[in-house]
Amino acid sequence: MTSMPTPAPYVTPDAAAYWHAAAEGRLLLRRCDECATVIWYPRPFCPSCAGSSTSWVEAVGTGSVYSFTITRKGQGAYREAGPYVLAYVELDEGPRMLTNVVDCPVDGVRVGQRVTAVFHDTGQGTALPRFRPIGADEIPAVEIAAVETAVDEPAVGG
Ligand SMILES: [Zn+2]
Repeated sequence: MTSMPTPAPYVTPDAAAYWHAAAEGRLLLRRCDECATVIWYPRPFCPSCAGSSTSWVEAVGTGSVYSFTITRKGQGAYREAGPYVLAYVELDEGPRMLTNVVDCPVDGVRVGQRVTAVFHDTGQGTALPRFRPIGADEIPAVEIAAVETAVDEPAVGG
């Protein structure tokens, strides 16, 4: 097992809530208000129906390894991190997410393997969502819950 670098992400306004929620140990996704497609990477439009209205939902944080590669020699902050696993994890809500599989030997990762999110703090108010294998005794309950946001709430006069 290697210790993965935690470089701070470049935070765009559209994805700021995503990165800051990760620092609180929560995985947020955007869901299309029109066709209910759940989207990753967070963006304000729907790549499925071209709808222009999406809302935050909180993901359960579980999924399956869709595809992966073992990176022996990375670049930038990852130059000395290899070998590590770069993977697409298919979340239980639907979208596939580019991430790392951690906390297990790199040669122990398999397509279809069940994984759950872990959050690696960058120390700058954000965290990087990564995934570790799920133990046999950890059974997730999949339910997409709407996330309340300050933007959507009516103003309360006082
Ligand atoms: Zn849509």
